[in-house]
Amino acid sequence: MPDRSFLDWPFFEDRHRELAGALEDWCKVNLPVDHGDVDAACKGLVAQLGRDGWLEHSAVPPDGSGTLDVRSLCLIRETLARHDGLADFAFAMQGLGTGALSLFGSPEQRRWLAKTRAGEALAAFALSEPRSGSDVANIEMTAEPDGDQFVLNGEKTWISNGGIADIYCVFARTGEAEGARGLSAFLVPADTGGLEIAGRLHVMAPHPLARLRFDNVRIPTSALIGEAGQGFKVAMSVLDVFRSTVGAAALGFARRALDETLHRVRQRELFGAPMAELQMVQGHVADMALDVDASALLVYRAAWTKDSGAPRVSREAAMAKLHATDHAQGVIDRAVQLHGGDGVRSGHIVESLYREIRALRIYEGASDVQKVVIARQMMGGN
Ligand SMILES: Cc1cc2nc3c(=O)[nH]c(=O)nc-3n(C[C@H](O)[C@H](O)[C@H](O)COP(=O)(O)OP(=O)(O)OC[C@H]3O[C@@H](n4cnc5c(N)ncnc54)[C@H](O)[C@@H]3O)c2cc1C
Repeated sequence: MPDRSFLDWPFFEDRHRELAGALEDWCKVNLPVDHGDVDAACKGLVAQLGRDGWLEHSAVPPDGSGTLDVRSLCLIRETLARHDGLADFAFAMQGLGTGALSLFGSPEQRRWLAKTRAGEALAAFALSEPRSGSDVANIEMTAEPDGDQFVLNGEKTWISNGGIADIYCVFARTGEAEGARGLSAFLVPADTGGLEIAGRLHVMAPHPLARLRFDNVRIPTSALIGEAGQGFKVAMSVLDVFRSTVGAAALGFARRALDETLHRVRQRELFGAPMAELQMVQGHVADMALDVDASALLVYRAAWTKDSGAPRVSREAAMAKLHATDHAQGVIDRAVQLHGGDGVRSGHIVESLYREIRALRIYEGASDVQKVVIARQMMGGN
């Protein structure tokens, strides 16, 4: 049984504790799913999460009422990640892909939220390009105004849900100013003419991922999300909400690794006694538990701060993501070590956690980028 004592922390309200309990029960019945065909598995998970109401937390209602509750997002991601990394991914992308609509969407654009919240449409967030990953201000894709339309040309890469998404939130250069101040965000349905999947990408923990090519893609001016030239602000505002949730997913992976390890060291006998009696094993367990609790404190501090009305939580979210993802890697590595040969056996849970955690230290701002964010905040920059 995973440690649930963190739910008593003052960051949470009773509704959060009820949500965590209900989702835990749901996960025990529905997860994990077969990952053999990741596209089919993801679509199935989105449909299931939508049918049973969990995706209602991923975006605001279509009428624009309410706000995203970051503590709920984090609790859901932590719980799903503990049971099935792909379920966490499916939930997370519905939120990240529609985050700009929740925060800046027009009433017409928000109509999509009825479908994404019901699990009837899949969403994706298309920011990265071959020459612009960490360096977001370097985006090269262009969006040229032409009458009552914009014409999009360029390429996006590393797009999660690429190939199975129904809508893409796309960032392109509209050129109001140099660099970050000349970007805009657009809502682009996947079936728009000229948008094609240039290739699928395969990573160590498989999930749907693609390169997208935009060849004279025409969209109406009403597809602009927020204001022209405000695309960087839109992207950073979305990441400000969802960055802590990446930390929450890492926390879920780490908690699972700790749980598996506790079970293992109690069951496995070494030198005539349970492994748990070896003091060096106890040292590993103590370090793992400390890392898990420290990450949880940072993740839920960031979520609570945002939910309490802070306009930006750049420092708190960066600390949560940096610490939780980097230390989850360490926790999982220890779990692999304490499982001996089983820890590296294909298909063993700690082996899959070892693969699942790695990308979280790279996407939505690599660990080094989080350090830059924290340092700038501490030194009074932006
Ligand atoms: C599995 C996966 C899913 C993804 N999903 C999406 C998605 O859905 N949508 C999307 O838009 N993008 C997505 N990405 C892209 C991801 O956001 C980028 O990979 C990430 O921002 C890093 O960009 P890059 O790969 O171009 O690496 P680069 O920008 O070339 O950076 C390489 C490395 O340099 C280091 N570095 C970067 N900046 C600094 C700095 N200032 N100081 C010191 N060191 C630094 C970091 O260690 C970094 O990992 C995904 C990536 C992966 C791996």
